[in-house]
Amino acid sequence: MHDSFLPSARSPQQWMELDNQAVWHPFTPMRQWQGDSNELGRVIVDGDGFELIDAQGRRFIDGFASLWCNLHGHRVPAIDDAIRKQLEHIAHTTMLGHTSVPAIRLAEKLVEISPAGLDKVFYSDSGATAVEVAMKMAYQYYYNRGEGTRSRFIAIRNSYHGDTIGSVSLGGIGLFHRIFKPLLFEAHFVDSPCEFYHPAGEKAMDVSLGQMRSLLEDYRGEVCAVILEPLMQGAAGMLKHPEGYLRAVRELTHEFGVKLIVDEVATGFCSTGKMFACDHEDVSPDLLCLGKKITGGYLPIAATLATQDIFDAFCGEIDEGKTFYHGHTYTGNALGCAAAVAALELIDETNLLDALPAKVDLITTKLDAVREHPNVGDIRQVGLMTGIELVASDARAFDPASRTGAAICLAARQHGIIIRPLGDVIVLMPAPAMDLATLERLLDATIQTIVDYFA
Ligand SMILES: *Cc1c(COP(=O)(O)O)cnc(C)c1O
Repeated sequence: MHDSFLPSARSPQQWMELDNQAVWHPFTPMRQWQGDSNELGRVIVDGDGFELIDAQGRRFIDGFASLWCNLHGHRVPAIDDAIRKQLEHIAHTTMLGHTSVPAIRLAEKLVEISPAGLDKVFYSDSGATAVEVAMKMAYQYYYNRGEGTRSRFIAIRNSYHGDTIGSVSLGGIGLFHRIFKPLLFEAHFVDSPCEFYHPAGEKAMDVSLGQMRSLLEDYRGEVCAVILEPLMQGAAGMLKHPEGYLRAVRELTHEFGVKLIVDEVATGFCSTGKMFACDHEDVSPDLLCLGKKITGGYLPIAATLATQDIFDAFCGEIDEGKTFYHGHTYTGNALGCAAAVAALELIDETNLLDALPAKVDLITTKLDAVREHPNVGDIRQVGLMTGIELVASDARAFDPASRTGAAICLAARQHGIIIRPLGDVIVLMPAPAMDLATLERLLDATIQTIVDYFA
């Protein structure tokens, strides 16, 4: 390797200066980023199991699974080897007019482990594109069948499906949605079923389902799909759905003959304590969006799984024009698919699913220590996905300008952990394979950080 690529080629301070010159970071207020001289955990140069190591050699537990995508830890020998072995063959060619061994093997594996009925795998490279693909497939499904007026989508308020224009159109995170509103297509939103939003006593789940039924009745024959994040609306601040909601939505979509798109980009691959969130309610969607942990957190691969029925609607004579005209250059990337096959096989080989309940319980019992804390408003958990909502001592939300959640997560680095907030919700999303001892250290440090901050 050329020496200038080595972390030691420059001081941490110099790397930060170079970063400030040329790099524009995602979801980042850049003036504040550039003005921040705190080096702690800023330039990450190594990973080791469940730890991230910065340019000064300081170690931090990766408490947010490197933004929810890490599955087995960093530098996992089996995944590293799979990528190296594939490199000895080919890194990438195209899925247009060709196919590759890793892409075939991954598709076979995904069909095997996903809910019954999902038999076809369409690759792309991010969660947002997996959602775009699902939307376009749902729309074109009816178009191909001569039901072209079905262009309406129903989504849940405060949901998040990615940052492309289509996926933002179906998302309901106020800030992103508001800015881009003139560019978005129209979608219909129903209230989130989180009890959180209906403190007045009306059951939020009934309200949400009632609104969905009305829309399906009002626009009978015009709706092509309902889309949701199952069990937990992640980016909105870990908003937990009541039990039975997912199942009820599946039944509604069956009743009205519209497609159900389930976005498991965040919940998939062990995050909820099972392989998929759908497995908790025995639901099989028509389209399933997967991303994030699919490669163990190594490379950008995503997939949209579809039923045979949907696939069949795209098959016909060339002049019928039924083809799905969509694809990205790096779709089905061979290195990424090889990493994914290794990551998914490792779930079996390590009996990861059996080990999850003890980890889920540890999070629940450990967090009892702050459940009654005056600055903890609510703790919401589905499997390993956990949100700790912080409030001012009068139980009201903090002024967003105070950036309390961000300040606490920065303070957490002093305790040797890296976590990220969603507003004033502290998020814990450990890699599913994290061992109990490391998980316990992560939880202790999180609790200590919160207690110290408000002391
Ligand atoms: C992260 C996320 C996405 C977007 O995935 P990207 O890979 O960031 O495009 C979509 N849906 C959900 C539920 C997510 O959590």
